[in-house]
Amino acid sequence: MKDKIIEILRENKGLFISGQDISDKLNVSRTSIWKHISKLKEEGYIIESVSRKGYRLLKSPDLLEPSLIDKLLNTKYMGRKIYHYDSIDSTNNEAKKLAQNVEEGTIVIAEEQLGGKGRLNRKWTSPKRKGIWMSAIFKPNISPSESPKITQIAAAAVSKAIEGIGISNKIKWPNDIVIRGRKVCGILTEMSGEINRVNYIIIGIGVNVNLEEKDFLQDIRNNATSLKIEKRESINRVKLIAKILNEFEYLYEDFINTGSIKNSVDICKKNSALIDKRVRVINGNNIKEAIAMDIDENGRLLVRYDDGSSERIISGEISIRGIKGYV
Ligand code: ADP
Repeated sequence: MKDKIIEILRENKGLFISGQDISDKLNVSRTSIWKHISKLKEEGYIIESVSRKGYRLLKSPDLLEPSLIDKLLNTKYMGRKIYHYDSIDSTNNEAKKLAQNVEEGTIVIAEEQLGGKGRLNRKWTSPKRKGIWMSAIFKPNISPSESPKITQIAAAAVSKAIEGIGISNKIKWPNDIVIRGRKVCGILTEMSGEINRVNYIIIGIGVNVNLEEKDFLQDIRNNATSLKIEKRESINRVKLIAKILNEFEYLYEDFINTGSIKNSVDICKKNSALIDKRVRVINGNNIKEAIAMDIDENGRLLVRYDDGSSERIISGEISIRGIKGYV
């Protein structure tokens, strides 16, 4: 309802529209409209209310409003249904609750996450209105062992979208986007399935868009960056989300239609932060040094250990680090 009211006010931006007109259009009481308008004001909208004239929108805060995102989409289903929250524990958790009852491509976005998470239950910093904290729901007809492929598709899509706004970046296999060796985006894939079939896959994407240095806790400051820090200007989050969703559907559809993630892997290889580098392969307490050689057609990282043996690593629970630091 709130979104619908905003849309009407926006269509009449700068002009008054009466409470009666809005209530006729939306078929709800004027009291209810008034309550929603009060909430919108609390969220930072500047709305003038004048008796007998009605409401007039003067200024909108920079919010990830579904109607604004929708206008920039060229997708069939990705992002065509968006759940937008001001504050939430974690968009992945919310997406999991919704997953069974919504269509593929449904998106959950939040202005802030209070319990944002990375892999292995690590914390993900997600301050208010500064990033893209979103989760997408997929229902591919694939086996659970193929779910890491969706992570590679997501990484390729985000990398291309960020490149599309003029910021070069690299993909740190399997799930991070980095700039100058610092993490600017993390991807968290969670799956619900049975032995040979996926119920749903949730892809959580956290992009540090307009965070400043001070928004990062001391312990991650050296390993994290934001698009604003890199570009030295604020970035429009709505445009970037739409780009991510457009790229994502394109590459996901390509996989569904061809059964292959070759096009996504090509992007992950071309933009790889790891290939030809020495890395640490961390599997729990087991740490081995290797050279990252390639990413194969299934999205696995091919590494060669110092004893000459090689391994194809599935993303799962493994972490890769640079020899001297994060990358
Ligand atoms: P990795 O894949 O590198 O092992 P995760 O995907 O588990 O890491 O991400 C969680 C980690 O990322 C945290 O432990 C923290 O060090 C770091 N981190 C948390 N929030 C952010 C953020 N907003 N930007 C960059 N790095 C972050």
